[in-house]
Amino acid sequence: MRSTIILLLAGIIVPTAVTVAQTRPAPTESHATFDGGDRPLPGPVYEESAFSRAVARGTRTRTGRPGPGNWVQHARYQIDASLDPSAARLTGRESVVYQNNSPDTLRRVAVYLRQNAFAAGSARRDPLPVTGGVALSRVEADGTKLSAIPQTDSTSPGTRLEGTVLWIRLPIPLAPSDSVRLEFDWSFTPPPSPSDGRQGRESDVYFLGYWYPQMAVYDDVSGWVTDPYLGVAEFYMDPADYDVRLKVPKGWVVGATGTLEDSSSVLSRRTLDRLAQARRGRDVVHVISPDEVGKGGALVTRGKRLWHFTAAGVRDFAWGAGNHYAWDAAIALVADSARGATDTIMISSFFRISAAAAAWQVGGARFTRDAIERMSAWLWPYPWPQMTSMEGVLASGGMEYPMMTLMQSWSDTLSLAGDLMHETGHMWFPMQVGSNETRHPWMDEGLTQFDVAQGMRPLYGEPRIGGRPTDSEQGQRDLYLTAARAGRDATLMQWGDLFPEDLYFISFYDKTAQVLVALRGLLGEERFHRALREYGKSWIGRHPDPVDFFNTFDRVSGRDLSWFWVSWFYQAWPLDQAVADVRQDGDSATITIEDRGLAPMPVRLAVTRAGGGVERVEIPVERWLENRRSASVRVRGSPDIVRVEIDPEAAFPDLDRSNQLWERAADSTH
Ligand SMILES: [Zn+2]
Repeated sequence: MRSTIILLLAGIIVPTAVTVAQTRPAPTESHATFDGGDRPLPGPVYEESAFSRAVARGTRTRTGRPGPGNWVQHARYQIDASLDPSAARLTGRESVVYQNNSPDTLRRVAVYLRQNAFAAGSARRDPLPVTGGVALSRVEADGTKLSAIPQTDSTSPGTRLEGTVLWIRLPIPLAPSDSVRLEFDWSFTPPPSPSDGRQGRESDVYFLGYWYPQMAVYDDVSGWVTDPYLGVAEFYMDPADYDVRLKVPKGWVVGATGTLEDSSSVLSRRTLDRLAQARRGRDVVHVISPDEVGKGGALVTRGKRLWHFTAAGVRDFAWGAGNHYAWDAAIALVADSARGATDTIMISSFFRISAAAAAWQVGGARFTRDAIERMSAWLWPYPWPQMTSMEGVLASGGMEYPMMTLMQSWSDTLSLAGDLMHETGHMWFPMQVGSNETRHPWMDEGLTQFDVAQGMRPLYGEPRIGGRPTDSEQGQRDLYLTAARAGRDATLMQWGDLFPEDLYFISFYDKTAQVLVALRGLLGEERFHRALREYGKSWIGRHPDPVDFFNTFDRVSGRDLSWFWVSWFYQAWPLDQAVADVRQDGDSATITIEDRGLAPMPVRLAVTRAGGGVERVEIPVERWLENRRSASVRVRGSPDIVRVEIDPEAAFPDLDRSNQLWERAADSTH
């Protein structure tokens, strides 16, 4: 998700400094001398005890890779749903076969009813419209009807509703390797736009996200994870297979996760021909052109209005429908070097014709195609057969679903390109790499924010004029540093719902992206990129923990980066290195650096001499880990030093660049 919000930089958060005693190797460089000075020192990263137990059981390792016994649960959904816009009601019948791949016998299972966030009296983090939530008229487990049981009953099979989570105590405990069939009849009123910024309805458009009873995650570290959906923090889902039949009013088109089956039963010959034409080249084809919108010629007018979609190995299913959509299509070409083949990904873009949505006519399909191609090249090949982007319902920003994105009505093309790059970027994190978004928002939003800048730069350059600042590395840095300079830095290791909300975007998106830029600067482009891809590919279809990310980078870099993880993820320590003094002393010169911030980082110096020669010198991070505030380095005294600059490549997000540069005064003579 990425919304455009106005940030109120009010109030001060004082970073909490924790000093942890530790042993570090003694300095070996004889050319450096140091002053003392107290500072907070980053200790080791302590894994949680639940993670340690998972390592002991063999489902996790300390290398960043899954353990040999790693497992994830799996579900197969069959859903029939019918949309009645005249009553603003969606009604569904659902069957879920839930496969227990864990070694545990499950006496109860948890199912999310996230539409209950819109029920009167539900806990929520933001104001939300009240719709009444989900009406459940039938719950069955393997054919046994279940009803609500009282809080005091701890043995009978039945259901217990806790806000957005429905607990089901099974008639027969679910053994390892066994499965249970759950059935639900349900209905609800989709929330009016702008609802929670992820879904909802307008007069002629519905977008259904979080619309069906969905299994909660039971994982190898935490067991059942049933954090309530409160509106701000996001989601955590297992991979699953879907077979979905959607009945919509006559004349409405549907875009959805998955592949449209039996397309000739809903699409006219003309439309099928245009889709075939789109498959023959990379150019954008109008499937429903602007002058055909709302006329129904795209559809088979007689017969069924039942749209049938299937999708395998996705963590969710979303869909949108409307009777005023234009439809553009194209293909993306995705080279898969491992297979020695190029895949063609079908791209569809649905949007309404209006001045407010003008950018969609220019770039809805084109930017979606570009995003799939760029992200596939940067990370690894997009794995699914199609990708759909849809305009509507949202007041601001966009939202990601497997093979689907939903976005506001952009009029500015570069902003739409950036928004599509961001939401499409989520097809990797978290759609494939299934981290817990609720508890660790940086793992999907921060990584995606970083990836967006990598996707946008080759297409549109940096620096550039226009578009959203959040889509470039420089813009992300400005947003983070502006907050940090105002004392509004915050730790990344927080649950999304506990976060001061105006800092949600700054921290989990822009700060995290800048921390990754710093990590790239620290490790070098190639090693960083290799570690990022290795982390992601190791966890496709699985549930990585933050320490899996940290351990991958430690292993690939061959270094213990605990000091980096603690400083930048667990603490809110800003960076501020300054050139304190440059002193010529006979044959040698001494450069003194002060660390005025809290985050220890190596000091990368460019020393320029009279005549133009530039010498690179580095003060290693270990100097600061010896509890110092100032460090000196001795270099040759001639030719004269005319300029000293810290981090000339601006690899690190330093609070104050003005104190990183020393230049010899014009009247100084030697
Ligand atoms: Zn996002």
